[in-house]
Amino acid sequence: MKRSLGLFVLLISVCGVLCQEGAGVAGVTTAATAASYSCDPATCQLPNCLCASKTPPNGFSPADTPQFVTLTFDDSIQTSLYQTARKMLDVTNPNGCPALGTWFVSMQYTDFSLVQQWYSAGNEVADHTFSHVGTPSAQEIASCRTALNTYGGIPNGKIQGFRAPFLNYTKDTLAELKKQNFLYDSSASAVSDDAYWPYTLDHGMANDCWTGICGAGQIQLPGLWEVPMYAVLDNGSIPQLMDVYIAGTPEDVSQWSTSSFDRHYNGGRQPFGIYVHPTHLTAYPGLPDPAPKLEGLISFVKSIAKRPDVWIVTNQQLLQWMKNPVKASELGKQDYMKCQQPVIVKEICNGLDDDNNHVIDDNLLNNCNFGTTTFKTCFNCPSTAPTLESPAPVSSSQNGTEGFRYPLPLDCDTKWWDPISNLCLCTSTECQYKDTAVPVNKNTTTSSISANGKDQEKSDASRSLPWVGAVAAVVMSTMLL
Ligand SMILES: [Zn+2]
Repeated sequence: MKRSLGLFVLLISVCGVLCQEGAGVAGVTTAATAASYSCDPATCQLPNCLCASKTPPNGFSPADTPQFVTLTFDDSIQTSLYQTARKMLDVTNPNGCPALGTWFVSMQYTDFSLVQQWYSAGNEVADHTFSHVGTPSAQEIASCRTALNTYGGIPNGKIQGFRAPFLNYTKDTLAELKKQNFLYDSSASAVSDDAYWPYTLDHGMANDCWTGICGAGQIQLPGLWEVPMYAVLDNGSIPQLMDVYIAGTPEDVSQWSTSSFDRHYNGGRQPFGIYVHPTHLTAYPGLPDPAPKLEGLISFVKSIAKRPDVWIVTNQQLLQWMKNPVKASELGKQDYMKCQQPVIVKEICNGLDDDNNHVIDDNLLNNCNFGTTTFKTCFNCPSTAPTLESPAPVSSSQNGTEGFRYPLPLDCDTKWWDPISNLCLCTSTECQYKDTAVPVNKNTTTSSISANGKDQEKSDASRSLPWVGAVAAVVMSTMLL
């Protein structure tokens, strides 16, 4: 695996790194731009407003504060990638519940039955645009959500997070997220001076200030959270953000990651993140075996999971805590940290192995096949391949005909929904759910997504930022696999 760095140093300097969908970080925070973020904690208060800060919310001491760790996965969900992600999460939290992760899903190559399985296991499904494009249009964001809802059965209101492909976002992207009622963005990078806890954008951005995005009056998006992505510093103190394991040997990566983790753990307990493209950790014929990198990563996850007060959570769980912080000793009792699964005596198509025969949704999945686009789903196949313009075309079977699947209604969560019997099997108040998100649907058709399996990141170059010309220094790089 070879890096090829193309450097465009415009004026001063520094940024460092490799950016393969933001592998590295443009880590220039000038005094002028950093100073332009201003937020008054006296007026910006939880649960809906929080200023960027490196110390825990509510004035908690670090010792009382949980050390959150987020594992995030980007791009399509396919069987082999899903298995890679599951291996990384094979640890438990202090309350005995499984560690959970967040998947930022793009639609090309995605198998929607696995989207549902990921969600039903307690993990988070988030939006990564329909076509995997940077500086995405409103339609890219909305169509992704529509497809995840229609074929993955994820309630619209549970799709709360967004990450821009190549981490390439603008203030318009953030404004669009607010407009479409997302809870958070997680596209911004944080190095050390700006390793803030998640914060709301009521008073603007405090990360990626080198781009000029933090200036007064740039952004004012009340209640929209930014969950910064925290970089790991390598031997040369160069910040590495995504797929850190690509930048060194497993031993190196483990050492960098451990010392960066310690800076959080022994410092302000800011969340620590591990951001991966599972495709790089999954074996493909003819490519170098990534197993040593994956093993290294798994043992790093295990080593930090053993430390006291370390919780591996989804971004949504993290934000639940942010809005209403409780001491580490109380965290395990919070509803959002519990892990009760439905007990349903017969197998229904809900992403779970209800009858405990070790096969999820056995014989219940529909196979939707459009040549280059194929996926499985518990719901109706569309009559044509979903596209950006028409992410949920008319279904191939109609209500009243054999094999019809009932879409997820607004008053049932996926795990409890039987799309064949048209029944919500939740009978207690604990599992009741009411989706209040406004679904966004688009109708029209044009070209279809194509799919044949792997290496969808081939075209991922660096984060190419539109405002780059105005910036002190940037290293743009490409690292192709
Ligand atoms: Zn991506």
